[in-house]
Amino acid sequence: PGPQLPFDPSKKTLVVLGSGWGATSLLKHLDTENYNTIVISPKNFFLFTPLLPSVAVGTLAARSILQPTRFIARHKAREVAVIEAEATDVDPINKTVTFTDSSPLRPVEPTRTINYDYLVYAVGAETQTFGIPGVKENACFLKEIADAEQMQRRFLDCVETAAFPTTSEEEKRRLLHMVVVGGGPTGIEVAGELHDFLEEDLKSWYPELHPYMRLTLVEALPNVLPMFSKELIAYTVKTFKESKIDIMTGTMVKAVNPASVILKPKDAPEQQVDCGLVVWAAGNTSRSITKNLMAKLPHDQTNKRGISVDGHLRMLGAPSIFAIGDCTSTSYAPTAQVASQQGAYLARILKLVAKRNVLEDQAKALASTDGQLDDETTKRSEKLRKQIGKIRLNPFQYSHQGSLAYIGSDKAIADLPIFGREWASGGVATYLFWRSVYLSSLFSLRNRALVTGDWLRVKFFGR
Ligand code: FAD
Ligand code: NAD
Repeated sequence: PGPQLPFDPSKKTLVVLGSGWGATSLLKHLDTENYNTIVISPKNFFLFTPLLPSVAVGTLAARSILQPTRFIARHKAREVAVIEAEATDVDPINKTVTFTDSSPLRPVEPTRTINYDYLVYAVGAETQTFGIPGVKENACFLKEIADAEQMQRRFLDCVETAAFPTTSEEEKRRLLHMVVVGGGPTGIEVAGELHDFLEEDLKSWYPELHPYMRLTLVEALPNVLPMFSKELIAYTVKTFKESKIDIMTGTMVKAVNPASVILKPKDAPEQQVDCGLVVWAAGNTSRSITKNLMAKLPHDQTNKRGISVDGHLRMLGAPSIFAIGDCTSTSYAPTAQVASQQGAYLARILKLVAKRNVLEDQAKALASTDGQLDDETTKRSEKLRKQIGKIRLNPFQYSHQGSLAYIGSDKAIADLPIFGREWASGGVATYLFWRSVYLSSLFSLRNRALVTGDWLRVKFFGR
């Protein structure tokens, strides 16, 4: 006995792994009449990641950027089973998925294996640590909602510990030094949000501590934000300088200790820098389930960055698996924009696949009426063959809508393709544009209302 699955033997079973950008976009666009659809994810919600850095400093409440997957599933034409569980194994040969409920409410984690006809593999990626000592133990990540909440707690603990009457000068300086590792968009946005929190709220709440507060962003490459145009990189560096955020480029973090980081600048010896908080935003790596799945298809899956797919997003070596988003290695950047366009594309493809399957079944049924092929049957068979031939599955094509990032101090940067040209803009007006874009891209009216409410709350009452 297992969960109630929406089982109709006349329809194929579609299993979707994940409830992030790729999976949710697929679910929103999918015609569920065509499939027995089962969504499996350890999180029973969709997380709007572009606004996650705002949750880390309390500008937004966590619930404002979450959308329950069951809410989306409930509004589909036909029932969709949502199972809160972690997929632990995919068998691409026997076409099965094994998943487990890791709730601490049970003494033994129940495990179940189900068959799929098609699998949409959208489990995303995890934070890359490169095996650098102390990162997992001592740094905060910013990938999940729990990471943002943990970072907020740690940050406030640093401030309150610094405010304790017996804390020495040296200890105050250490506790109030925040280090962000990674000069990609995540690191830049977190540094910007931390700066706003320090300047707009903590400065007035803890005026005596303000002189001790310091923010440093460390990046191994010679530049931050390599995906943005040169002028926007320069604009960000200038804005950070004005905001007194130190940027250390060409500097590698070699270790993270409980109270310091070990830095290695390109042409200088290693140095230990004391700090109270380290935020680790050094990019993505594949999840272990993805590595295991790829290892089962060693001839086709050779790219270490993630799953290789064909033009229709089918996993090489396993054509019943569609892989989308951050778990794949394609020529596209691992962004929400790409994952959501892939999800929407796949919904269209799956509709056509379902239509083709129905026609093929009808053609097979006609062909099996041996010896009775009268004129009428031949005509119908010919018509079906033509209809099947007309179903074209076009390959996925990405349409880049531009790049946006918040850089703190009510300023944002945007690289936008307008009439075939890249248009770069930065400043307060771009920040208002940034807000309007994200407000309109939130998945529900409920989220839009909550985020607007949070922004007004911060404007009038602070964080
Ligand atoms: P995710 O959205 O990460 O979803 C993966 C899903 O799989 C999750 O629901 C997870 O719970 C589930 N899962 C994990 N393990 C399993 C398992 N074993 N079994 C089943 N399910 C599993 N991109 C932009 O384009 N613009 C931005 O402004 C932007 N800002 C960002 C800000 C931050 C802080 C971060 C971290 C990322 C940002 N990104 C942005 C990148 C964007 O979030 C990712 O590219 C996008 O989430 C990828 O979508 P996905 O569906 O592949 O993975
Ligand atoms: P990233 O891979 O873009 O950047 C990580 C940075 O960390 C790299 O520049 C790397 O050189 C640096 N780094 C790695 N190890 C280091 C070390 N030991 N010491 C110092 N620096 C180190 O990662 P991200 O910023 O998390 O972004 C991931 C993806 O999500 C990207 O595709 C990005 O475009 C997307 N994203 C987009 C937005 C946006 O559009 N606003 C926001 C966040 C994330």
